[in-house]
Amino acid sequence: MNLQLRDKVALVTGGSKGIGLGIVRELIAEGAKVANVNRSEVEGRQLERDYAAEGQDCFFIQGDLTDLSACKNAVEQTVGKFGRIDILINNAGVNDGVGLEDGPEAFLLSLQRNLIHYYALVHYALDELKKSQGTIINIGSKVCETGQGGTSGYAASKGAINGLTREWAVDLAPHNIRVNTVLPAETWTPLYEKCLAEMPDPEQAKAEIERLIPLGQRFTTIEELAAMVVFLASPMSSHTTGQIIVVDGGYTHLDRKCTFPSDVQGFGGAGV
Ligand code: NAP
Repeated sequence: MNLQLRDKVALVTGGSKGIGLGIVRELIAEGAKVANVNRSEVEGRQLERDYAAEGQDCFFIQGDLTDLSACKNAVEQTVGKFGRIDILINNAGVNDGVGLEDGPEAFLLSLQRNLIHYYALVHYALDELKKSQGTIINIGSKVCETGQGGTSGYAASKGAINGLTREWAVDLAPHNIRVNTVLPAETWTPLYEKCLAEMPDPEQAKAEIERLIPLGQRFTTIEELAAMVVFLASPMSSHTTGQIIVVDGGYTHLDRKCTFPSDVQGFGGAGV
């Protein structure tokens, strides 16, 4: 399928690792030019060099997005380099475990890590998106639908992102700008691997999570997540806006029984 993304310009936050890296790779494979903003430099600079060697653009912008000036700078540098922005992908974030006991200052910091830069980047990129009749894709999390415990700041941020998806879709429909959000649940990334590595038995912890994922009893891959994002970024989804799409192998919404041992699976077949 030709996604018609050749020479489109995408600004991706957190594109050096994990889900963001998957998105960057798919966008470039479709012929898009990418600006990738990250705190850490090593991976982003390496990506830039690797793609440049192949004649492709993966422009690295260093910045910590909790700083509003870094958000503004990311937009300005992208426009300075490529002259336009067609696609904004808000992806950077972290489940930072700021819970009820941590207090309002910690909660505000969590919103800065996970929410405020999503708004700031849309704000600063607005004129460019209006010019290009571009599209915005946010990466959310299932946590705002299910709760997780001990992570108020992250849950609030991701819930707000769902709300803003609808709000911005309404705001921006007159400009033909589409806004959608993709929710991962259990996607295998280096960060996830690092978190499990801190558990007493990482292999067992991984197996226990996998068992709960209906489709294939396995984690979602970054490529599967990115495929949805790239489709939403493309004109192939030209009449899709304000949608919150869960890419999680059925983890968040399907009947818990489907991951039970087989002798229990048939239970409820008569409408129980
Ligand atoms: P990851 O592997 O840690 O990658 C996140 C990337 O974002 C890193 O490159 C990180 O760069 C960058 N980043 C984070 N905060 C930043 C900041 N303040 N300024 C600049 N760059 C920043 O995480 P991931 O698992 O791919 O998560 C990506 C998104 O998916 C997040 O919004 C997360 O909430 C969401 N999500 C993931 C899962 C999952 O299962 N993986 C589940 C639900 C939701 P540095 O660390 O190098 O600075």
